[in-house]
Amino acid sequence: MAANKKLLMLPGDGIGPEVLRQVRRVIEWMDRRRTVTFDVEEGLVGGAALDAHGVAVTDETIAKALAVDAVLFGAVGGPKWEGKGFDKRPEAGLLRLRKDLGLFANLRPATVFAPLADASSLKPELVRGLDIMIVRELTGGVYFGEPRGITDIGNGERRGVNTQVYTTSEIRRVAAVAFELARKRKNRLCSVEKHNVMESGLLWKEEVTALHKESFADVELSHMLADTCAMQLVRNPGQFDVIVTDNLFGDILSDEAAMLTGSLGMLPSASLGAVDASGRRKALYEPIHGSAPDIAGRDLANPIAMLLSFAMCLRYSFDMQEDAALVEKAVEAVLAGGMRTADIMQPGMAKVSTSVMGDSILRALDKLAA
Ligand code: NAD
Repeated sequence: MAANKKLLMLPGDGIGPEVLRQVRRVIEWMDRRRTVTFDVEEGLVGGAALDAHGVAVTDETIAKALAVDAVLFGAVGGPKWEGKGFDKRPEAGLLRLRKDLGLFANLRPATVFAPLADASSLKPELVRGLDIMIVRELTGGVYFGEPRGITDIGNGERRGVNTQVYTTSEIRRVAAVAFELARKRKNRLCSVEKHNVMESGLLWKEEVTALHKESFADVELSHMLADTCAMQLVRNPGQFDVIVTDNLFGDILSDEAAMLTGSLGMLPSASLGAVDASGRRKALYEPIHGSAPDIAGRDLANPIAMLLSFAMCLRYSFDMQEDAALVEKAVEAVLAGGMRTADIMQPGMAKVSTSVMGDSILRALDKLAA
């Protein structure tokens, strides 16, 4: 029997608790059916933590997040907490988790499930079978670089400054994550920057090239300018396997790629940190959608993005490839059977609630594992 896997669940606000409840059911199914057991702790984050403790995440929750193998995060935010200062915003909880766990690599898959190929804004033949992984650098670049700020420069003029800055080690550690991922996929990595107009982009390209030569020569590496990549993602997205890029370009390109797949309710993500002395990589898994206050508490949310985030957790934190694939196949089977939550509803399909979608996925797991 394998050692227990330690998970911290942070449901957060709005639909966060509703979608994470469906993950809890899959974990219970796995506890019963597979040779793995999960130790699951739960904590507050976002608005829920602000209400209970006056901060968006407590030191105790951060300590727990540092101690477990992986964090499963729902979503935070809502009208109740809007208009407060930066520290009193629900999002401050997520930002602190990212910072304290040192989560520098953000993995955003853009995968199109065959039954949903028609939901994309692109022609189905361009997106059918699409399976791209975007690795975005998450803790450096222009969102954090100094100097920054707005200054008065006299004569009614003001000046806004942000600084795009990357160091060798920041580039290499995220590129290494991307090369390793490529090895487990189709073995192709495209590194994206703007070396034609930015020194930080030139350094990015040089360091990725050097790392490739030193440690990952078996992976097929290409380079692309960020503007070309934005164009190619809508022109011929099937050409990409893994893309690695900086914080700013990654922010934009991963949202663009996400939209190729149809719905927010289908998109998972992982944020990974460095490997520690015990060989464990800090990790947080979350759907890319927010707390959806407009549908919260009504059993309407699509739990699939959260469930696929859990599948990523199985794959990247626990190396449980088969179990991860099982969850993904169960999702695909349920979609192929015509079940749809409201956000992905299509003509002729059966509209179901969050909990019925969860029931159906458990039944599909039973069938697949039989
Ligand atoms: P959102 O992602 O919460 O919702 C956008 C739209 O998509 C809404 O119409 C919503 O009903 C729908 N939607 C989202 N997820 C869905 C799901 N799983 N199933 C069905 N429909 C779904 O974005 P928003 O409305 O811009 O923000 C709402 C709140 O969430 C804000 O407070 C925002 O700050 C916060 N937010 C949090 C995160 C996070 O926790 N990581 C991310 C984005 C936004």
